[in-house]
Amino acid sequence: MIADDHAHLFLYNNVDEKIRENVERNVKYIIENSIDIESINKVIEESRKYDIIYYALGLYPEEIEKMNDNDIEKVFEFIEENKDRKFLAIGEVGLDFSNVDENKIKKQKIYFEKFLELADRLKKPVIIHARKAEKDVLDILTSYNNKKVLHTFWKPSLVDKAIEINCYLSIPAIVYRDPGFQKIVKDVPLEFILTETDSPYLDPIEKGKAVNNSWKIIYSLKKISEIKDIDEKELEEIIFNNFVKVYNINNDE
Ligand SMILES: [Zn+2]
Repeated sequence: MIADDHAHLFLYNNVDEKIRENVERNVKYIIENSIDIESINKVIEESRKYDIIYYALGLYPEEIEKMNDNDIEKVFEFIEENKDRKFLAIGEVGLDFSNVDENKIKKQKIYFEKFLELADRLKKPVIIHARKAEKDVLDILTSYNNKKVLHTFWKPSLVDKAIEINCYLSIPAIVYRDPGFQKIVKDVPLEFILTETDSPYLDPIEKGKAVNNSWKIIYSLKKISEIKDIDEKELEEIIFNNFVKVYNINNDE
């Protein structure tokens, strides 16, 4: 069974069709990651409509820059009050220094830590975005005991450090064609590996096109099983069990 812990299927116009493809292809769980207020509403709505859709609530670092403190606080209150069983994680949250000045960095860091504190109170794992800010993210995470999932973490030299502080690495389907992620997989113990797509982005086959979908994790399984020299079915089971453990999935459901 396949689990995708980082997708944005709400960006598709034909979500129905995308979900159907996944149901037909052995996908059991998809965590839709919100990025702003609009998508927070969308992922909740989707989760009510489709069995396989679960969700993470958070604000993307660049969204944090644009919003005023009052509106951000309202989002925090909304998340804190949400008791829905399909609410599995805080995400996606983190730091992105692609395009920033000192003030923006400061604001991103303040709210990233607030999200970590919120996740800690709610006992939820955190799905983390770290772009051009990998070291800063790990430095901050060192002080938190939350369950931490690094999404599409692309910094081979910091993988050991990430594992040392108990971060799970959510490996995107582009591992199929990306030597950087293949190297990362080599360095991550199996018990710390999760799978994701970041759909519709990062398609494993069609480079540069936003046509990805959760079932394409079959390509990840193929590549990771080669790298780790392990049977594909056995790998699928290990990763699925990691997912169940990280996101506290109750098997009676
Ligand atoms: Zn994302």
